[in-house]
Amino acid sequence: MAAKIILLERQLHALRKLLFDRPGVEGAAFLLCGESRTDHAFKLIVHAVVPIASEDFLRREADGLSISSAALTRIAKLARYEGLSIIFAHSHPQGVPEFSDQDDREEERLLPFLQARVPGRAHGTLVLSEEDIRGRLYVPERVPANAITVVGQAFRSWSPHTVSMAAPFFDRQVRAFGPDIQGLLTRLHVGIVGLGGTGSPLAEQLCRLGVGHLSLFDGDRLDVTNVNRVYGSTVGDAGRFKVEIAKEHLDKIGLGTLIDVYPEHITVEETARAVRDCDVIFGCTDKELPRAILIQLALRYCIPVFDLGVLIDSRDGKISGVHGRVTTLLPGEACLFCRGRISAETIRVEALSDEDRQGQARDGYAPELEEPAPAVISFTSATASAAVSELLHRLTGFMGAERQSSEVLISFDQTRVRTNRIDPREHCVCGDESLWGRGDTYPFLDMVWATRTI
Ligand SMILES: [Zn+2]
Ligand SMILES: [Zn+2]
Repeated sequence: MAAKIILLERQLHALRKLLFDRPGVEGAAFLLCGESRTDHAFKLIVHAVVPIASEDFLRREADGLSISSAALTRIAKLARYEGLSIIFAHSHPQGVPEFSDQDDREEERLLPFLQARVPGRAHGTLVLSEEDIRGRLYVPERVPANAITVVGQAFRSWSPHTVSMAAPFFDRQVRAFGPDIQGLLTRLHVGIVGLGGTGSPLAEQLCRLGVGHLSLFDGDRLDVTNVNRVYGSTVGDAGRFKVEIAKEHLDKIGLGTLIDVYPEHITVEETARAVRDCDVIFGCTDKELPRAILIQLALRYCIPVFDLGVLIDSRDGKISGVHGRVTTLLPGEACLFCRGRISAETIRVEALSDEDRQGQARDGYAPELEEPAPAVISFTSATASAAVSELLHRLTGFMGAERQSSEVLISFDQTRVRTNRIDPREHCVCGDESLWGRGDTYPFLDMVWATRTI
């Protein structure tokens, strides 16, 4: 069972400021967190950083501190009221990244208090040195955090066990990025939602890069018209689930990537719940409701989502534009609603049966059913490559620290690439900070889910 703590870059920045505000002495703060509980992983996702007032520090020294019981009672009340978990974070100004014997003794008192005041939830502790972070979760028994992950313009992860992977397969990319890249990729669990024209080359590339764990989500079966762009597929595969074809193909590569498949759309609650275990998600669906679900997962679980789109404007075989897009979704970045990429109206229309849709189209309440969209392997593959490069940049910073972008737009017909970054629009769901890091809720994602029909 993996135990992880997830926080945003801006939250880590705020936390470090509070913990290292006075040189040479320890500092402390609380983090209020959402939970993600699945059969495979337990995560605490940071919702808010809560400072401790200077009068609530009874003692702050180089090798220890103590907090007033009034401050502990207040944070416990707030957490219980909000339905959140508590992480107590403190600093080791001397640079020792491990929990000390004294920390063990303090936690033996602190954790029973938090568990009694905020029952039924996991809590945790963090210790930060200037360079390092260690964490523990109490679920309720104590487990070390396997990873503390920070997401934002850069993705960083601290782990007590560093994997040294010197497999010869990866020599050429290690020469590009340095030896750390393989450890990062091996520990990564990536979800791909949609295994068509953009999802299948993504799966191929992530597998060959050495990503440790891939989860593939797609309820569609292969149609013969998909073979022109779906990697690993053959004409003889028509009628099989796309995820099964992908797994069979990727397993043959032999690089040891663990591959889970879900032959169901993420509009099914059970399948959407499984996506929570991923560290990063690639959205490769051409439908809008799954994209809206991915936005919610990005906001509530702080899982970065790279959403891909490819659009070919063509009439009677004459192309007037070819556009590829990779949009990064995370708390603090404009989502696909704000950006006008998806709309509630299209989601409504998508949910209609063909018959209802035809009826509503006749009455002018829905657009006519469209012909299948044009799709060409060079454009879908190139957009997938741009998305993988985006992940590599966030892991390594190879495009430079000054690059602040949450969208890449490629105009293939004009050989042009642009980037942009937009703040959440006022009143859009993505600007609602009360959702950030909120984790599990009932109902799941606060959505109405269709009952499963087989
Ligand atoms: Zn300590
Ligand atoms: Zn938005």
